[in-house]
Amino acid sequence: MTIRRSIEKTENDLLGMTACRSQQSRGRERQEEPCRIRTVFQVDRDRILHSKSFRRLKYKTQVFLAPEGDHYRTRLTHTLEVSQIARTIARALRLNEDLTEAIALGHDLGHTPFGHAGERVLAELLPNGFHHVSQSLRVVDVLEKGGSGLNLSWEVRDGISNHSKGRGPLLNNESAALPTTLEGQLVRLADIIAYVSHDLDDAIRAGLINNSDVPEQLRGQFGEKHSQRINRMVSDVIETSLSASVSQVAVSHNMETGIKTLREWLYANVYQADAVEAEFRKAKRILRELFRYFVDNPGELIICGGRHQPGDAIEVAVGDFLAGMTDRFALNLYQHLFLPQPWKNC
Ligand code: MG
Repeated sequence: MTIRRSIEKTENDLLGMTACRSQQSRGRERQEEPCRIRTVFQVDRDRILHSKSFRRLKYKTQVFLAPEGDHYRTRLTHTLEVSQIARTIARALRLNEDLTEAIALGHDLGHTPFGHAGERVLAELLPNGFHHVSQSLRVVDVLEKGGSGLNLSWEVRDGISNHSKGRGPLLNNESAALPTTLEGQLVRLADIIAYVSHDLDDAIRAGLINNSDVPEQLRGQFGEKHSQRINRMVSDVIETSLSASVSQVAVSHNMETGIKTLREWLYANVYQADAVEAEFRKAKRILRELFRYFVDNPGELIICGGRHQPGDAIEVAVGDFLAGMTDRFALNLYQHLFLPQPWKNC
C-alpha cells in the first residue's frame, strides 16, 4: 500500500460522515498519475503554496495601502489567518483539513494591488468587467505555471469560486451560491470571521477609529480584543454546526446578525472612510494610466513582464498583468514609465 492509500484509509476512519474524502474527489480537468505520498487535496494545497501568485500576496493591500507599518495585515497574512480559522473549525467538526487549507490558501489569489480600489478600477476598464473571484480561478486554471495553470481538483476550484459574499448572505440563505463541500462553506465563513476582526484591529492601529467608537452592543457581543472576537465567532460556528450534526456549516442567528452588523459598521466607518478613499483615488489613477499605456503599447507589455495568452484581447492581457501586480511593483513601474528619473553620477 502506498503512503497516500494509507492516509486515505486514515481519512475514512477519522473524518465525519459529511466530510469530503480525498478518494471521493471528482478529480482534475487533466488526468494525472496520483502522488504516491500525498492525497489529491494535499497536492493542491502544496501547488498553491509554492505558486508565484501566492508569494505576491505578501505585497498586496488588504485595506491600508502598501502598509508602511509592519503590523498591518496584507493579503498574505489575511489568507493565513483565514486558513488558521478554517482549519480549527474543520478539525473540530471532523471535516477534511487538507481540502479546507487548500481552498483557504487559494481563495484570494486573484486579488489586485491596492485592495478593492484595484478591483473597482479594473471592473470599469475591462470590457467584461472584473471580479477577484473569477480572477482567482483564472490564476489557478490558466495563468500560473507559465500559462498552463495548476490543474487543481474540482472541489478546490469549487471552494475558490464560491467563497465570496461581498455584502450578501453569509451562508444560511438559499439564494446564495454556496460551495458544494462543507469545507468550502466553512472557508467562506472563516474569510469574514477573519476580516471583520482584523480590519477592525488595523483600523484602530491606524488611528482611523478608537475602540470606544465601536457600538457598545457589538463590543459586548464580540469582546474588546482580536483574540476574543475570533474565539467567540469560531466557537459559535463549531457549536451551532455540531448541534446540527454537521449536516451543514452553520452559525447561530444571533451571531450571524452580529457579524453582519459589524460588517456594515466597518463599511461605513473604515472601508468607505474619507482617509481610506483618498488613497484609493490615487491608486485608481495609477492603474488607469498603466492600463491605457499598455493597451496603446502592447509590445511593452511583454518587455515589462506581462504575458499575452493566445486568443485574448489586449485589454484582457493587460488586465491579467495589472491584477497580478503587487502594490510596490505597480508603484515602481508607474515611476519608471511616467516620472523623470534623475541622472546617476558615474
Ligand atoms: Mg479573503
